[in-house]
Amino acid sequence: MKIVKKTSEIKEILSYLESNKTKINLIPTMGNIHDGHLSLLSEANKFEGINIVSIFINPTQFNEIADLENYPNTFDNDVNLLSKNNCQIVFAPEINEMYPGGLETKKTIFEYRKILCDNFRSGHFDGVTTIVKILFDHINPSNVFFGEKDFQQLKIIEHMIIENNLKINLVKCPSIRGTNGMSLSSRYSKFSENDKTKFDQCAKIINDNLSDLIESFDFKILDKIKNDLKSIGISSIDYCEVRSEDSLDLSSINKDSRLFIAFYLNAIRIIDNFTLY
Ligand code: AMP
Repeated sequence: MKIVKKTSEIKEILSYLESNKTKINLIPTMGNIHDGHLSLLSEANKFEGINIVSIFINPTQFNEIADLENYPNTFDNDVNLLSKNNCQIVFAPEINEMYPGGLETKKTIFEYRKILCDNFRSGHFDGVTTIVKILFDHINPSNVFFGEKDFQQLKIIEHMIIENNLKINLVKCPSIRGTNGMSLSSRYSKFSENDKTKFDQCAKIINDNLSDLIESFDFKILDKIKNDLKSIGISSIDYCEVRSEDSLDLSSINKDSRLFIAFYLNAIRIIDNFTLY
């Protein structure tokens, strides 16, 4: 496995691969590799070509400096894990390699905005689409792999590919969950022992209510989730809503819909979504 830090070097490698008609599978990440990321890599193994995992903690998608500074950075361990999981290239550029003209973002995608995380993380998705487009432009992948864990992000990237007429196949990968039923996330590596216990309690509340919701849709269950979370001290809940998977419009049926939830456990933001069918 090769570790590449410079865009000039990745360009050289890619032009060689292109001349051999080798296809590229790209898995963009911010590192702190866990089984969720590795599931994207194992999905990529089903496609021909070579697998590139990018590791870049993208400053423009963080709306709070403390959140960026706290983001886990476990590069050596990440490299070790990726080398054992059929990754051929880790692309880990410095900030100035990705943003040679400074940390600017462009607002290019207007679909699936003004809802869910976009209402609470101003500019976040502009940062995401900006860096993903930069990565696509540098790497020119045939297949890209994104997780359903970040469902709104997935929809926005899908729209970006369509709107820009990019010849990229977007592979949507299901969430990999921990034993408590919640999707794995790099952010959770920062949990204290107390946070872990509280997180399990939150998971139980969500899972118990989710079963009721799946049995029979009722808006009262969404209020109950929020109230149950508040009763154990979760005071900051960004949203708890059911939305259509296709349009991301609010939904009052289970068919083709998901429960979307985001809240804070101390300073750590938790987002997840659950199919209701
Ligand atoms: P991140 O490093 O958190 O930016 O995530 C990189 C990619 O991995 C994104 O496409 C995420 O949606 C995906 N991902 C993160 N956590 C999970 C998970 N638990 N299951 C599946 N995919 C995930």
